[in-house]
Amino acid sequence: MQPQLLAVGELAAGQTLTVPVYRFIGSDPAAPSVYIQANVHGAEVQGNAVILQLLRYLRQYPPKGNVTLVPLANPLGINQKSGEFTLGRFDPITGENWNRQYLDNQLPLSHWLSEHQGYSDRELVAAYRQALIANLQTRLQSPWGVTTGQRLAYTLQLLATEADIALDLHTGPKSCRHLYCPEYQRHAAMQFSIPFTLFIPNLFGGAMDEAIFCPWWRLSDYLASCGRQFEIPVVAFTLELGEQELIDMAQAQQDAQGILAFLSVRGVIAEPLLPLEMPRYGTHLKNYRKFHAPQAGLVQYLVAPGSLVEQGDPLVRLLRLDLPESEQEQLLTAPEAGAAILHFASAAVQQGTELYKIMTQLTEIS
Ligand SMILES: [Zn+2]
Repeated sequence: MQPQLLAVGELAAGQTLTVPVYRFIGSDPAAPSVYIQANVHGAEVQGNAVILQLLRYLRQYPPKGNVTLVPLANPLGINQKSGEFTLGRFDPITGENWNRQYLDNQLPLSHWLSEHQGYSDRELVAAYRQALIANLQTRLQSPWGVTTGQRLAYTLQLLATEADIALDLHTGPKSCRHLYCPEYQRHAAMQFSIPFTLFIPNLFGGAMDEAIFCPWWRLSDYLASCGRQFEIPVVAFTLELGEQELIDMAQAQQDAQGILAFLSVRGVIAEPLLPLEMPRYGTHLKNYRKFHAPQAGLVQYLVAPGSLVEQGDPLVRLLRLDLPESEQEQLLTAPEAGAAILHFASAAVQQGTELYKIMTQLTEIS
C-alpha cells in the first residue's frame, strides 16, 4: 500500500515537509472511523513500528470503519538531533512542546445550538464535526499566519477530527506502557492491553487527545445543562508504548494486537479479538506525581518502570564524588506507595531533575 504524502510545512530552502498518510476505506459506513498517529515527539519512534504492524494486520482484517494511519507525524522532530540522540520534544525555535500546540477547538455553544435546533443526535454530530473542521481550516488560513508547530498540529488535527476514535502513539523516556484515558471513558481502560491508566479530566492543555475529545465533552456537558442527554460520540487516547529511541518489532506486534482488540471491541473490525488478561491499575491524573532530584549527582535507577513500590522503597542511588566519603553514596526513597511508570533517561542529573513519575493512590481496574 502506497501512502499519500500530506504537506505540513516548508524548510528554509523551500523543501516541502510531508508526512505519510495511509487510508483504509471501511466496508460499513455505520462503523466508527479511526485515526492513529505516531512520533509527534521526535525520539518516540516505537509507534511507527506499531503502525507498520497495523498495516499488515489491517490487510488481513479489512476494517468495517475507515482507518487513517499517520506514522512519522513530525518530520522536523525526528531530525532534531544532538550528537547521536534525538531531541524532538520541543520546537527549537519557540521552545514549545510539539504536543501542546493543537487548537482548543471551541465553538460558541449557546449560539451554535440555537442555529441547530431540532437536530437529532446524529444530525448534531455531523454538523458539529463540520463546524470543528471549518474552525480549524479558518485558523490555518488566518491572515496573520500560524507558527510552524501550529501548522503541523492543526493539519494533523484536521485528519483526526474526521474520526470517531483517535489514538496518539507516544513513548516515555525509560517507561512502561501506560494509557491516558478521559474520565468519561473509564471502561476503555479494560479494552486496551495496557497495565496502567491515567484518567484525565475535561481540561484542555494543548495535547492531541484533549484537542479531539474536549469539544465533544463540552458539547455533551452543555446539552446536559439544558436537560438533553447526549452521549459523547468521539474518543481519543494517548498510548505510551515503552521507551524512546527504541524500535522493537516483537513488542510492536503485541502493541498492534492490543490496538486491534480495542478496535474489535469498538466494532471497527469484525473479527472478535480480546484484550489481554492482566492486572490493570489506574489513578486520576492529579495523583501522577513527579519525584525531583533533591540534589544533583550521578544516578543509578533502582526501580524498573512498571514496578509497584511501597513508601520508603529505594528508588535511586545517588553518587556525589565532590563530597566527603560519608556523603558520596546515598539512597533516595519513594515518598509514597504507587507504580513507578517512567524515569529520566540520563544518569547525570541536575538538582530538580524529574527522576521518576509515579502513579500514586492506585486502584485496581476490573
Ligand atoms: Zn510523547
